[in-house]
Amino acid sequence: MQVNADLHAHSGYAGGVGKISFARIDDMMSLKGINVVGTGDCLHPRWLDYLKKNLKETENGIFSFRERPTSFVLQTEVIITSRIDHRRKSVHTVLLFPSFNAIDVFCRKLQEWGVKNTIGRPFIVCENPEDVSHRLHILEDIDPDVEIIPAHVLTPDGIYGSNCPITYFSEFFGDFAESISAVETGLSADPTLLHLIPELESRTWISNSDAHSHHLHRMGREFTTFELPRLTFPHLVTAIRKNNVVRTAEFNPAEGRYFLTGHRGNRKGHNGQYCFFSPEHIPHDHVCPICSKTLTGGVFERVIALHMQQSGENLPEREEHDVTIGTHDMTSIMKNIEAYRTEKPRKFTSMIPLVEIIARGMNMHSVTAKKVLREYRTIVEKVESECELWFMNKDTFRETLKGINPQVLDALLSVCEDHFGFYPPGFDGEYGRLVLGAPAAISDICEIHGQDNPSKENGL
Ligand SMILES: [Zn+2]
Ligand SMILES: [Zn+2]
Repeated sequence: MQVNADLHAHSGYAGGVGKISFARIDDMMSLKGINVVGTGDCLHPRWLDYLKKNLKETENGIFSFRERPTSFVLQTEVIITSRIDHRRKSVHTVLLFPSFNAIDVFCRKLQEWGVKNTIGRPFIVCENPEDVSHRLHILEDIDPDVEIIPAHVLTPDGIYGSNCPITYFSEFFGDFAESISAVETGLSADPTLLHLIPELESRTWISNSDAHSHHLHRMGREFTTFELPRLTFPHLVTAIRKNNVVRTAEFNPAEGRYFLTGHRGNRKGHNGQYCFFSPEHIPHDHVCPICSKTLTGGVFERVIALHMQQSGENLPEREEHDVTIGTHDMTSIMKNIEAYRTEKPRKFTSMIPLVEIIARGMNMHSVTAKKVLREYRTIVEKVESECELWFMNKDTFRETLKGINPQVLDALLSVCEDHFGFYPPGFDGEYGRLVLGAPAAISDICEIHGQDNPSKENGL
């Protein structure tokens, strides 16, 4: 059986999350077409208590809420920090637990380690890579089915991220690097970018939303379709470890909040001015031309740095952020990315949250406006669920969607025909802005703006 799973979410106990109810999640997931979802924050005592009282185990390690159709797995994100060359690096990591019992044992361990778990994402503070490895082995020993997955690997707080950058997993995870079988692509990256990193070749790539809200443009914006004999936790973990992935469904990297390197407008000293650069245009000293502080390194830049460092090509003198990349390298990398997009050696589907396309088509600013949501339901009724829209044969598109708002249909057709882009693309925590029409070349951007912050007009 094929199962669509979104295995990284957050509860109301993580920062920046409103009140989240399971009934609401279940409604949203049915509209989206997602079968299994992570509970988020399962180590938080109050949320854990709520989960224990309200979830019923329907299959081994799979839970449901009041007999509704959506399945849940016990999941949290933790922040593992460790010292690397006298600096501290934090790595966001997703944990999946097979049972409440395994969580209880791990919570006692956290207490022993002096870890505060009263925040949604607890910090596990380690001394060095050996210490990280030792503690993760302890977690693994609690139950061999506990799954440990580095989250959004290329964003600043991911394992490869620009905050205290490293080249290989082992520099942070020590020996445990060998036990890591899967990584999360993150919103600002997809397989066309991940395939440039040799170290990831032998691993499974999964996609999750990392949703901090229950709105339709956040939940299920990324997911993974697994092939399973039956939906149980052990089967799910085996599918992750053995790469039984049918496809990942991906957010467009240029829409992700950390795609390009730059500084957003609401930083200190910026007064609304902002700047963003594609890799070959990044200032060599990595200094922001507006505030003179270090720029936030984007995913695109990190991918290219890792590609060069891990394949030993043109290995630059490794200053902390320095990536020297010539026009020639960039052209060949872009060709490589395009070839992957066409051939798709690992299957993936690119998606844009449907409410965003509807809002753009109707020229509305808010993706949560009632009119937008009404149109959303009309469309979903015709195609069964939002993800079916992305999987369906595009030749039947017009026929299936007959009767929907004509501007929205035009917007959807533009997206299906690849006639769209994101401008500005995402950078320094700002989402990219969907623009219908001919896309800008993401490899050739160098902009320094004195206007208001783009997020204000973005409305997303
Ligand atoms: Zn995270
Ligand atoms: Zn700046």
